[in-house]
Amino acid sequence: MSELVKYRSTRGGEDDLSFEDVLLSGLARDGGLYVPEYWPRFSYEKLCQMKNLDYSSLASEIIAPFVGSNLKKVIKSISKSVYSNFCNQDVAPLVKLKKNLYVMELFHGPTLAFKDYAMQYLSELFDEVLLQKKKKIVILGATSGDTGSAALEAFKSKKNSDIFILFPYNRVSPVQQKQMTSINEQGSQAIALRTDFDGCQNIVKALFSDIEFRDKVSLSAVNSINWARLIPQIVYYFYGAFKVGAPEKEVIFSVPTGNFGNILSGWIASKMGLPIKKLICGSNQNDVLTRFFNTGKMQRSNVIPSLSPSMDIQVSSNFERFLYEVINRDSERLNFLMDSFEKDSFYKLEDKELKKALNYFESYSIKDSDILQTTRYVYEQNNYLIDPHTSVGVKAAFLAQVQGRVNDEVPIVSLACAHPSKFPDTIYKSMSFYPKIPSRLNDVLKKEENFKIIDGKLLDVKNYIINKMRK
Ligand SMILES: *Cc1c(COP(=O)(O)O)cnc(C)c1O
Repeated sequence: MSELVKYRSTRGGEDDLSFEDVLLSGLARDGGLYVPEYWPRFSYEKLCQMKNLDYSSLASEIIAPFVGSNLKKVIKSISKSVYSNFCNQDVAPLVKLKKNLYVMELFHGPTLAFKDYAMQYLSELFDEVLLQKKKKIVILGATSGDTGSAALEAFKSKKNSDIFILFPYNRVSPVQQKQMTSINEQGSQAIALRTDFDGCQNIVKALFSDIEFRDKVSLSAVNSINWARLIPQIVYYFYGAFKVGAPEKEVIFSVPTGNFGNILSGWIASKMGLPIKKLICGSNQNDVLTRFFNTGKMQRSNVIPSLSPSMDIQVSSNFERFLYEVINRDSERLNFLMDSFEKDSFYKLEDKELKKALNYFESYSIKDSDILQTTRYVYEQNNYLIDPHTSVGVKAAFLAQVQGRVNDEVPIVSLACAHPSKFPDTIYKSMSFYPKIPSRLNDVLKKEENFKIIDGKLLDVKNYIINKMRK
């Protein structure tokens, strides 16, 4: 694994790119997503050696093969500084619910959702590459909640990048809003728009298409299709699997899924040699992925707001990376499928392609009523409170075991993607009490909110950013 991994676009328009290029540009110019030209793989012996590493040492081993040679030198120190700031020594601790069912807590970062595990790392990678290249950039994104707070928190004190996050006014949870709007420094701000998430997303797209503006401020993105966000997420799959017996034994993961980013990192872990028997994809009522795995048809419909809002998605953009593998890296076929999805909101795989996809994935669609019921059930059985997204994953794991669709001798690790205190109203609905607020969230809630509300006009947003960026 000493060779340097290069990157290419799934749509076939670009190849032979360095990690640094891919990191800074996000989306490929041909509209595709960046993927490595091959998957670095650990031998069985190497896995046995990695088994007892602490979280940040393990992170260094897993992340280093994906980055360029200048970055490789600093990966150890970045890993150490990022994860020593997490508030649990174990970084991603496991909690046993019952025989062969565990929850892995991924909410010990600063904004209490799993997005921190990658975003905190990403901000360090950006800073290092920008320093080496003597460049400054402006990061722009839209959020429906967790991504925006994780990104602002991670990038707020970085010298070489400014960050602006657009969010739909009155449509994110009060906790999420507070996490974003209590950060307000020259160069790092949340901006509320009087529109919905799609409206915010449209303004981001329009500003990226404004070539003059884009070049003037060096616009960049950290949304979930940025390749570099997937890499640090691979680490906790290894970490969790080792704790339940890998590499000697196989393991199953259950993952509450929206954009297919988190679960794709699990799939990458399996390509790297981790013995993952199955990845269980938990959808909420917006179950485009479950319908796909049942039928081979990817068909978009309308988003219906659910109790797990971070998964309210009908186009799982990271799925393209998996699809590319399923069709044997055939960019021509990929372009055909993605064009028909663009035109008709629809494509269908051939039976043998679907069969290949099902080697890796199982999928279940979980209704809001099941979210509430599962939260209650787990609390009654284990005296342990889970957030509504985590409930989706746990319920999917229950279903897989009960229906015998997975071997119940193989342990399932279900990912807890957010702390319950981020969704107090849903916890109340389920439990008739409010969750305890951890002290680091309490500190945030005490801070003042300070943010600008803009009607949603492109020009106003643009001028605001030009005014507020550090010159
Ligand atoms: C982002 C998020 C998800 C969905 O993750 P994807 O990578 O988009 O599939 C699930 N739960 C929580 C709490 C999240 O913040």
